[in-house]
Amino acid sequence: MTISLIGAGAAGCFAAIQLARLLPHADIRVYERLHKPLAKVALTGGGRCNLTNSFSQVSSMEAVYPRGARLMKRLLKEFSHTDTMRWFEQAGVPLLTQPDQCVFPVSQNARDIVHCLLRQMQQLGVKLHCGFRVTALQAVAPGYQIEFADRPAVHSQIVIVTTGGSPRPAGLSFLSTLQVPTVPPVPSLFSFSLVQHPLASLSGTVVEHAAVRLAGTKFKASGPLLVTHWGLSGPAILRLSSVAARHLHESNYQASLSVNWLGETGEAEALQLIGQMAAAHPQKQVGSVWPVQLNHRLWLHLLHSSDVASDLRWSALSGKASRRLAARLTNHNFSIDGRNPYKEEFVTCGGVSLGSINPRTLECREHPGLYFAGEVLDVDAVTGGFNLQAAWTMGHVVAKAVAGKEVHKM
Ligand SMILES: Cc1cc2nc3c(=O)[nH]c(=O)nc-3n(C[C@H](O)[C@H](O)[C@H](O)COP(=O)(O)OP(=O)(O)OC[C@H]3O[C@@H](n4cnc5c(N)ncnc54)[C@H](O)[C@@H]3O)c2cc1C
Repeated sequence: MTISLIGAGAAGCFAAIQLARLLPHADIRVYERLHKPLAKVALTGGGRCNLTNSFSQVSSMEAVYPRGARLMKRLLKEFSHTDTMRWFEQAGVPLLTQPDQCVFPVSQNARDIVHCLLRQMQQLGVKLHCGFRVTALQAVAPGYQIEFADRPAVHSQIVIVTTGGSPRPAGLSFLSTLQVPTVPPVPSLFSFSLVQHPLASLSGTVVEHAAVRLAGTKFKASGPLLVTHWGLSGPAILRLSSVAARHLHESNYQASLSVNWLGETGEAEALQLIGQMAAAHPQKQVGSVWPVQLNHRLWLHLLHSSDVASDLRWSALSGKASRRLAARLTNHNFSIDGRNPYKEEFVTCGGVSLGSINPRTLECREHPGLYFAGEVLDVDAVTGGFNLQAAWTMGHVVAKAVAGKEVHKM
């Protein structure tokens, strides 16, 4: 029995290991186009690898998986974040859950995850072939012919596609001969460039809890916000880019962004807060006392852009100026002018259509023996370890499904 996995990333390597544990006599091969396996995993979490999340602050699957929430809800029952944590700890990688509920290796080194997976693959006899870029799959019963760039084709009874996300449709072209339905891929998880960046001088400023939304749409998000030298970033912006990934793509990344610097605080509450500050510090200058959520530089900028002189005494702040300031604090508008210039897309929205696979086994409905797992499917998450969790979960589920089918045949 030959089982081939295409792509030695998180889902592919994990699936190969789980398969080798379940089917110790199977011939399991992983074909990877790059010269190194798990290259992306080594970069995750800024080199620290945020491999999962405790899920304790997750209000709904939809909140963390903008695409594929229903599928993930079902699959996480098979292999959850606690299973992931147990798996890696038993494989010799101690883990740590941060206060923000993101889970990292205690070593804070993504290479420990990479080495752990490679060690397991080697010990279990999984054959890893790097430098093998798959260009086409043909149905040749029983199984599939796998074609490569500059290498002879091979035949495999079972093929598991784990090629990850690709924001360009060309990344899925090797599936075209089989006519597997796909959802057009677009980037997700990026930061925004701003027109004439009005906050450029505040680069490096972090607001711990801001709320952001795209004006005139239902798309919104909240969390830490970071001012960068090209625009805005941080978890709040990345989340917004994720929930609105397709909308932003269709509007060519030109949109109106509203920032509430005080999180979910409404304008009336902000006005009250300004009143309280004025009552507490009547003789102080407006520029010298600011809401705890902001830093001094940002406060001075907000005063300036609301036409409020920073050397004015709080007692002299008029009702009209207070209202202008409250509006600026809670609804500060910016024009988005594209994704950030560094093209640091983290994941892909779109991919193989979920309607084309069996949600219990991840087997392609039209092509028995062909499976998909990981980001190649139309499943992606916000930041926080949820994308890698999807890869581990799907890697496990697909391995169990393939092994179950093979054992049944014996
Ligand atoms: C910089 C960065 C940081 C990230 N940080 C985090 C994080 O901290 N936490 C988190 O949860 N998620 C993070 N992600 C997202 C996460 O890395 C991915 O969602 C996850 O790796 C997807 O796993 P996968 O196995 O589906 O795909 P991948 O890990 O991308 O693996 C796919 C593999 O397939 C190979 N491949 C592609 N096409 C072919 C082909 N035609 N033939 C042969 N091989 C092919 C690729 O070279 C690759 O090795 C990050 C992503 C990036 C880019």
